[in-house]
Amino acid sequence: MSNYRAWFSCIDENCGETYPLNEIIYRCRKCGNLLEVTHDIDTLKEKSAQEWKDIFDNRYRRQSWPYGSSVWGKKEWVCPYVEDNNIVSMYEGATNLFWAERFGRQIGMEDIWIKMCGNSHTGSFKDLGMTVLVSVVNQMKSEGKDVPAVACASTGDTSAALAAYCASAGIPAIVFLPKDKVSIAQLVQPISNGALVLSLDTDFDGCMEMVQRVCTENNIYLANSINSLRIEGQKTISIELCQQFDWEVPDWIIIPGGNLGNISALGKGFLVMKELGLIDKLPRLVCAQAEHANPLYLSYLKNFEEFHPVKAKTTLANAIQIGNPVSVNKAIRILKEFDGIVEQASEVELSNACALVDRTGTFNCPHTGVALAAFLKLQERKIFKPSDRIVIISTAHGLKFVEFKIGYHKGELEGVFSKYANKPVELPADYGAVTDAIFKAIGH
Ligand SMILES: *Cc1c(COP(=O)(O)O)cnc(C)c1O
Ligand SMILES: [Zn+2]
Repeated sequence: MSNYRAWFSCIDENCGETYPLNEIIYRCRKCGNLLEVTHDIDTLKEKSAQEWKDIFDNRYRRQSWPYGSSVWGKKEWVCPYVEDNNIVSMYEGATNLFWAERFGRQIGMEDIWIKMCGNSHTGSFKDLGMTVLVSVVNQMKSEGKDVPAVACASTGDTSAALAAYCASAGIPAIVFLPKDKVSIAQLVQPISNGALVLSLDTDFDGCMEMVQRVCTENNIYLANSINSLRIEGQKTISIELCQQFDWEVPDWIIIPGGNLGNISALGKGFLVMKELGLIDKLPRLVCAQAEHANPLYLSYLKNFEEFHPVKAKTTLANAIQIGNPVSVNKAIRILKEFDGIVEQASEVELSNACALVDRTGTFNCPHTGVALAAFLKLQERKIFKPSDRIVIISTAHGLKFVEFKIGYHKGELEGVFSKYANKPVELPADYGAVTDAIFKAIGH
């Protein structure tokens, strides 16, 4: 394993600075740009594309530690530096790729899929990146490095993942949350896992500024996606997707974007597969933003010639309520390379899209609702061919957002007309009343 190598490098190719993965560093010391993990591609090329496919397929969902995890099953491509016994894993990935057959048929499409990344240990895709980050911290500690704690700012899901992985490894975790802006289910996760939960009277962007300062000045390890180790784990979404399609590439992938780490990761996964010959084409990517937090959409309208952070407004899709996304440069680079589109969804659109698709057997979180709404808007504009294979990335489990779901079906979401509300019918325990209600509903 040790002959595979990876390191941090500055995303500005003209700068060219590199740093070892066990250094506590998030931005280039020379030019201030973000870093990314670069792999020794020549060594990876010593195996053929078919050999890599066989290796990944043989490990997939098996028990031999830690390779049954779909992140660590791709360890040589993700983070070869960590020793197996220092890996902190909870069997990430291998999430259901749901064929949304009935939903597709309703809109005249046959090949629509929803990748259920929220069917995971802490209920969101954030586990994929956090296993890598916390494993590197664990490795650094085993090398004698002093890392007193790991911290993050979060719109909910990052803190849940950080708290769980740190608890599993016995590493102190500190999470910075915007007060009253995360769901109860999201809040209870880091509390239960024993993290220090700091609830700040600000928004996510305010928490982000604070955690960066606290980490930089106190040698605490920063777990936000500015830390490019997380991107390495998250890029396995693309590899796993192709694997689940027997190494075929879908035509389109639609993903909700907030801090824009995940869209960057998705693209990075496809690029490395193409470079190593596992695939021979790239999909087109769509990044979906909430209209209330849409700086990338506004930039897209100007051909990405300029980018301005916005003040994010409250949105039901709280995990993407971000006005100043840290990975914007990476995301724009990826969207240009993948002939990408950015679309936005209003509160009404995201809520109704969630509810419409829920009725065909899934249970969507509001962020997935943003992606579904963007999909429906592009479909309306005839961007897709009816035969296109389209994958919508579902980023979290709907059960984390029951207030949103109940509010929708009660018709109590502010400013939202609940087109598909399904209210419980309250009745006396009376046979006639019950059968009346049933036959009225099923129309017999
Ligand atoms: C974090 C998160 C996102 C946004 O991902 P970014 O990498 O910040 O763009 C979307 N949906 C959910 C549920 C999330 O937790
Ligand atoms: Zn640099």
